[in-house]
Amino acid sequence: MKHDSTTASASHSSLQQTDARFHLHPFSNATRLNNKGARVITHADGVYIWDDQGNKILDGMAGLWCVNLGYGREELAAVAEQQMRTLPYYNTFFQTTHGPVAQLAEAIASVTPGDLNRIFFASSGSEAIDTLMRLTRHYWAIKGKPWRNILISRDNAYHGSTIGGTSLGGMSGMHQQGGPLVPNIERIRQPYWYGEGGDQSEEAFGLTAARALEEKILAVGPDNVAAFVAEPIQGAGGVIVPPASYWPEIQRICRQYDILLAVDEVICGFGRTGNWFGSDTFNIQPDIISMAKGLSSGYLPIAAVAVGDRISNALMEHDNDFNHGFTYSGHPVAAAVALKTIEIMKTEGIVEQVRDSTGPYFQKALRESLSDHPLVGQIDGVGLVAGIALVQDKATKTLFPSSLDIGMICRDHCFANGLIMRAVGSRMVLSPPLIISKTEINELCQKIRTCLDLTLTSAQQAGAL
Ligand code: PMP
Repeated sequence: MKHDSTTASASHSSLQQTDARFHLHPFSNATRLNNKGARVITHADGVYIWDDQGNKILDGMAGLWCVNLGYGREELAAVAEQQMRTLPYYNTFFQTTHGPVAQLAEAIASVTPGDLNRIFFASSGSEAIDTLMRLTRHYWAIKGKPWRNILISRDNAYHGSTIGGTSLGGMSGMHQQGGPLVPNIERIRQPYWYGEGGDQSEEAFGLTAARALEEKILAVGPDNVAAFVAEPIQGAGGVIVPPASYWPEIQRICRQYDILLAVDEVICGFGRTGNWFGSDTFNIQPDIISMAKGLSSGYLPIAAVAVGDRISNALMEHDNDFNHGFTYSGHPVAAAVALKTIEIMKTEGIVEQVRDSTGPYFQKALRESLSDHPLVGQIDGVGLVAGIALVQDKATKTLFPSSLDIGMICRDHCFANGLIMRAVGSRMVLSPPLIISKTEINELCQKIRTCLDLTLTSAQQAGAL
């Protein structure tokens, strides 16, 4: 795409001013942001984005964990244009359907795990999560047990920011705002061995963390629980990869107490962990999953929920409407782009590439180039997603005092040095586009090292080391 930097730079401050006056940003402190001025991103290609000051930035986050095929995919733009010209919109409420949505449902079913072959559409991960919440509760109502409506999730989980997603998630900062929250949601501890495992081995801690689910089920009564909801890897919680012992034990517990297992694949889905879904990577057999982001590579907003036979059969047997849906459920343009995304992923072998080549390379390169850094306590990750724990003292795993926001300091150094790496507290997280090459992974690791050095200097200057 052509970009005129002269025009853009001439309008830089006026754009920032307009933005400051009229735009309320998500998850932002409006005053602080407006004083500084938002950075203006102008165009993007492959794994890079550019700002209007001419800075080229390596996007280590694939936007917000979503631009899996990278920027500048002409095929996706072409299919969107064509669909806009033929049928830009029609709903799926009035006993109507259209090509893109029916074909996309089939394409999704061709890659989902197990029997998850019936697909409901939404436009965002949060809407998919609300759908999943209503659907799991509705399932038990159909089964004659409407009281069975408690949803169990985990501390530090992120499931979106609608009232449903906020309530289900485990982010205390979000719970404090915009309540009261949706009732009948319980939470258990997260499986964060490095941060919370104490003296336990990784395997033993995985079992302890999973058995917290059993304890919770017994505490509230098994016949009151609708579902356990969790991400295969907690993404926005800091890329927390559970110990290998965790998921098999969760699966056992859900089976034993007949609890629906709902897996939030919004980040892990579509190749991120080196398989189509995180459930494949961790050998989970869910009853229902949510997905978004990588479904359209972030090019248009679209999300989905896939259900297996258990829920699907209940819905079919029940001679009543499921009173739920969105104006844009199965939007034809978004569906056409998602369909093309899946086609490209298949023809280019993107999932296999992440599984066999770039994923292992990325994980190895991160460890080889960063493990010895004085700030790096732990590097965790699978496929093309990783979390780096920053610590004050490696030997004791001591964190920096909260007065020094080490994650934000590091993130700002990254931003200033041509790299997007996000901070979640003191964990730095990475989720580059899945088309990243080995050469670009090397560049990414070099940039991270430089920024960690700068962060170390900042911490020293602040007297924290
Ligand atoms: N679930 C998970 C696991 C997520 O990571 C996110 C977004 N980061 C959501 C749900 C919500 O998705 P959205 O922002 O599209 O509503």
